[in-house]
Amino acid sequence: MEQDLQVRPLGLYIHIPWCLSHCGYCSFFTQKYSRKASDDYFRLLISEKNAHLKRGLGELSTVYFGGGTPSLLTSQQISELLSGLPLAVNAEITMETNPIQITDSFAEELRKTPVNRLSLGLQSMRDEELAYLQRKHRAADIPAKVKLLQEAGFDNISGDYIYGLPGSDLGDLDLALAPLLQLPLQHISCYLLEIYEDSALAPDIGLLPADDVLAQQYYRMRELATQAGFAQYEISNFARPGHESRHNLLYWQGDDCLALGASACGYYKGLRYCHPADLEDYAQIVGSGELFADEDPLADAIPDYIMMRLRLMKGLSIKEFQSRFGQDFRAGRQAKLERLSYLGLIRDDGDNVRLSEAALFISNAVIAELL
Ligand code: SF4
Repeated sequence: MEQDLQVRPLGLYIHIPWCLSHCGYCSFFTQKYSRKASDDYFRLLISEKNAHLKRGLGELSTVYFGGGTPSLLTSQQISELLSGLPLAVNAEITMETNPIQITDSFAEELRKTPVNRLSLGLQSMRDEELAYLQRKHRAADIPAKVKLLQEAGFDNISGDYIYGLPGSDLGDLDLALAPLLQLPLQHISCYLLEIYEDSALAPDIGLLPADDVLAQQYYRMRELATQAGFAQYEISNFARPGHESRHNLLYWQGDDCLALGASACGYYKGLRYCHPADLEDYAQIVGSGELFADEDPLADAIPDYIMMRLRLMKGLSIKEFQSRFGQDFRAGRQAKLERLSYLGLIRDDGDNVRLSEAALFISNAVIAELL
């Protein structure tokens, strides 16, 4: 790919695969933490970053440390990874953080780095659910930990919540989510539990709530989040005004995001690339200097864009689609748009197409109609 100037927002994702223990539901690329392996991997990340800097890098509006458990990095490592990057003045720099690690000294050290947004893997305020998910923190400890971060100066904190656990009902959801919404958080991400065939929780797949129960939970979750002052801006995400995740918006709006680290996937100038989910293969890629190894010209750029844009509450702008792809969004889709409108599943005001409230829980099926 040729180097040129960035005119659109650009993000950077950095994958830190280490975890102290494995949670049964997790499908991310993770590895058991060891100091030596972590230090070796850190050096690979630095090499990959330096290769990007050498090649030329546009201004970064967001950086996101995801994992795994990025909070296992030391403050020196975080600062070193960010050092030399062309960060925008107001860059959003997020780090996923495991609640078990939040202590006074952790917060104090993290404040020495440019990280200014934290995404906490809270998941539930019920100990039974935390234990089921194999999380190591306890619900009663969460409020003090969030307060500690807030007092250390972190004023942009997001919390993850997982619903739809086996056997759960609306009462369980209220108990697990309502106290979480009372925490001084600026953002909430609510995910439906997915159990994969090859995961430790696979025997429980048959115990997952039926679709109608899950739909009730989804709409109850929206109701509780809205009552607590959060505005929904994406199918699974809620924010207080001005605290939407700018990094995740890059993905949903089809903007570019570079990726560092094993298993990390980036999207850059019409190409999507994914690094191998294997430490040795990743080391080889870094050694070879192939920054965009496994790149894939996006034959499916339009379906990807439609799928991501319609996840946003503001929907897809017909005008922007035309300017981005040189095509009329309605061409070949008008009959479907009219049918979905008639069924009450989309709202089409002429300029924008978006999912209706009724379509949010079945968004994949509705969006598939338009691909
Ligand atoms: S801590 Fe996070 S990344 Fe690690 S296994 Fe658990 S859910 Fe997965």
